[in-house]
Amino acid sequence: MARQRVALIAHDQKKDDMAAFAQDHRAFLANCELVATGTTGGRIAETCPELDLRRLKSGPLGGDQQIGALIAEGTIDMLVFFVDPLTAMPHDVDVKALMRLAIVHDIPMALNRATAEMVLVQSGAGRAASNE
Ligand code: PGA
Repeated sequence: MARQRVALIAHDQKKDDMAAFAQDHRAFLANCELVATGTTGGRIAETCPELDLRRLKSGPLGGDQQIGALIAEGTIDMLVFFVDPLTAMPHDVDVKALMRLAIVHDIPMALNRATAEMVLVQSGAGRAASNE
């Protein structure tokens, strides 16, 4: 099976959750091509330095839109976007823009960890390949 191309973004306090998600699923993610927004990618790289991860610009500087462009080009198979619901939602336009592209191009988009894990299971690796 071709390597899954997975985009990862986490907002605000959800960056810790994204680092923990990457840690718990590092075996699955090791078989993926990963792209992430700048700060999120930095946190993942610190936690799991062995992963094949391309860091884009930080979200507020255009990283979200870089991921949107990759979705439009058909080079992303799954988007994991941990939105922080306990902030004032200053990134709401970014969430909506990527949601729209995920719908248009019919790729799975997980907005929380439970959904991300279900998508991983569905994609054939999931918990069996995780470190849990
Ligand atoms: P960051 O970007 O990973 O660089 O923080 C995420 C965002 O704010 O969209």
